[in-house]
Amino acid sequence: MDISTDIRYLKGVGEKRAELFSKLGINSLGDILEYYPRMYEDWSKAKKISETVVGETSCVKGFITHTPTKALIKKGMTIYKTGVCDGEEVMDLTIFNNRFAAEALKEGEEYVFFGKVGGNLYKREMTNPAFSVAEGGERIRPIYSSSQALSTKIIEKTVRTAIDNIKETLNETLPDRIRSEYKLASLIFSLENVHFPQSEKNLEVARRRLIFEELFILQLGLLLLRSRSKKITTNRIEFDKTEEFCSFLPFTMTGAQSRAVREAVEDMKKDVPMNRLVQGDVGSGKTAVAAAIIYNAAKNGFQSALMAPTEILATQHYHTLEKFFENTDINVALLTGSVRKKQKDEIKEKLKNGEIDLLVGTHAIIQDDVEFYNLGLAVTDEQHRFGVAQRGSLSKKGEEPHLLVMSATPIPRTLALMIYGDLDVSILDELPPGRQKIDTFYVDYEKHERAMNYVKKHLDRGLQGYIVCPLVESEESELVSATQIYENFKNNEFKNYTVGLLHGKMKPKEKDEVMKKFADGETQLLIATTVIEVGVDVPNAVIMVIENAEMFGLSQLHQLRGRVGRGKEKSTCILVSDAQNDDAKTRLNVMCKTSDGFKIADEDLKLRGPGDFFGSRQHGLPKMKIANLLNDMKTLKEAQAEAKKVLADDPRLRKKENEFLRKAVINLYEKMKD
Ligand code: ADP
Ligand code: MG
Repeated sequence: MDISTDIRYLKGVGEKRAELFSKLGINSLGDILEYYPRMYEDWSKAKKISETVVGETSCVKGFITHTPTKALIKKGMTIYKTGVCDGEEVMDLTIFNNRFAAEALKEGEEYVFFGKVGGNLYKREMTNPAFSVAEGGERIRPIYSSSQALSTKIIEKTVRTAIDNIKETLNETLPDRIRSEYKLASLIFSLENVHFPQSEKNLEVARRRLIFEELFILQLGLLLLRSRSKKITTNRIEFDKTEEFCSFLPFTMTGAQSRAVREAVEDMKKDVPMNRLVQGDVGSGKTAVAAAIIYNAAKNGFQSALMAPTEILATQHYHTLEKFFENTDINVALLTGSVRKKQKDEIKEKLKNGEIDLLVGTHAIIQDDVEFYNLGLAVTDEQHRFGVAQRGSLSKKGEEPHLLVMSATPIPRTLALMIYGDLDVSILDELPPGRQKIDTFYVDYEKHERAMNYVKKHLDRGLQGYIVCPLVESEESELVSATQIYENFKNNEFKNYTVGLLHGKMKPKEKDEVMKKFADGETQLLIATTVIEVGVDVPNAVIMVIENAEMFGLSQLHQLRGRVGRGKEKSTCILVSDAQNDDAKTRLNVMCKTSDGFKIADEDLKLRGPGDFFGSRQHGLPKMKIANLLNDMKTLKEAQAEAKKVLADDPRLRKKENEFLRKAVINLYEKMKD
């Protein structure tokens, strides 16, 4: 057996249980070894009964005083009673409805019990505690994320069997040199002790090694992905056409925009492909930057593609870019899932023979049957919503195309460099001139009506607005749902206005229609969920009310707020919340005070903790099993430095000593696919 062995061949598993494991993402022995405990229970330090505290969870060791006596309370309800003696005192033990547990307890034998202590000052008791025979039972126990059908006990047993089966043959992933340099424990020791720690110290040593390994393999993987595209590219820029493009623009680029374009053009003059991230707060003008770079590409004879994560965004980019290129000879086309077959075929034909210079679209553009004439520049917007693998699929449509990534997520710079490896970064830290600060207010529901009147005042002046709600439907929750608010407003409060509804459960086509009506000014007020969070750009929309604002994260509020303040009119954002807890109040007040996305992201990290920030795979990386990208920053740096060193010496991991590193990286790529 080795780590690739299917778990169903493990003793005690079989077909049925294998299926249950599969639901937890566990298919092979390697998977279960990496299914690390969610937490631990320390059964190694049993207390004297007299030392336990009523109400606290404790571990007690003692003899069973007599075979549990059975009493039937009512039909189907059995209760067993016995006592536990630790040599000094006796604790009452009650077991409800569990014949197996009761029968397992033998008079005169010693057990350890783990559970909440009840009773009073004179007499302690435990009800339905977990227990185990004392011999071998006094240890730190792993607790796993379990499912109804797969208890943490079963998982523990399976892990035990897996480790026992693999012990002799398991290959050490990390070369000896690295292990001794960073003082890392062996793989088998670490696996044993992360699942069945012999002591707290051992657990710490085990974790350190596993965290290092996880981050190290991740960095190796990312660096290797990158070096693959460090081949020679033929898509070289010879003529800088930025100035020419700027003459078509209705505005002057900001200093930051010009710098970003210049940096990209410099990259593209070289014969290795560009790999650049343009990071800018909402409204900083990333699309214009992309347009300038795309223009350069087209004028130097190669095609570009721009991929956005949603249909709304792709459509919007298409319209914006078409407008930018209005007076030029650049041909732009849009390809999404809802483009009709006939039109699709036409686009594909033109793309193949080079008549289209820029293809904008959703992931529809990485489908197999989409062929380019000569794709030289691949742009992805809001990268963090795509997996690393999808990024790769787009570049495979061309021969070593340049890569440009646009992101509005204000990840602190050092962290961005860590996550993206040696990706070059341009930061748009300057907003276009004349942009007004968005006035932000935080009010409670008593002032809701006044807020609504304020909205009407704007609509009466021919301006538009948004009302944002956290959920689409709310059966049990008290939160007002978008659909409810919509029905209510349309028929009452705003019956003299045109109101639209936009939420994530609508079909892409319906969403596009709603957005189009709003962009055209046909709809005055748009009730929406967070689907409008990214990229929607309607300059005439100047007021936004966010309902139950406490339900949103700070960065999310900031992204939402960025939908207004896109024109010349003064814009307002009203956060409505009845939240009573201080945390929420602090957050909402931060929003009123600052409009700097990076500052807000920092506050968000402080208030919510990194778990939330990185928990949702926002960055398109595989889910970490044991490491935490923020808390384990020091290890992350070490791992990155070491990964570079290893690859400098052995660029394709072909050396014998790196054989198992190579396998681990391939394994990681497999996981990145799903
Ligand atoms: P982002 O994608 O970074 O949020 P956009 O590219 O959507 O920002 O730009 C926001 C708005 O600002 C758009 O309406 C765009 O036309 C406009 N804009 C971009 N750059 C400038 C500039 N230098 N001067 C004035 N307006 C600009
Ligand atoms: Mg944008």
